Amino acid sequence: MIRLDSITHNHLGLHCEMCGHNSLLAVKMLIERLGHEINVHNAVKTLKCSSCGAKGKASFVITYVVNAKR
Ligand SMILES: [Zn+2]
Repeated sequence: MIRLDSITHNHLGLHCEMCGHNSLLAVKMLIERLGHEINVHNAVKTLKCSSCGAKGKASFVITYVVNAKR
């Protein structure tokens, strides 16, 4: 299982299985909401689709944002 704190600088590409809506979410934002010890799977389950409102129906890919320097 991948914990959020091992991918802090990445994004999640989310795809809603119900309506096909795609979105991109910074892992950092998830950590602020849910804490960093949760794993990606459980974090995604708490998310609601901003388009159709379905909860926990998204599939995800971990996206590496190469240009995100800090
Ligand atoms: Zn949806």
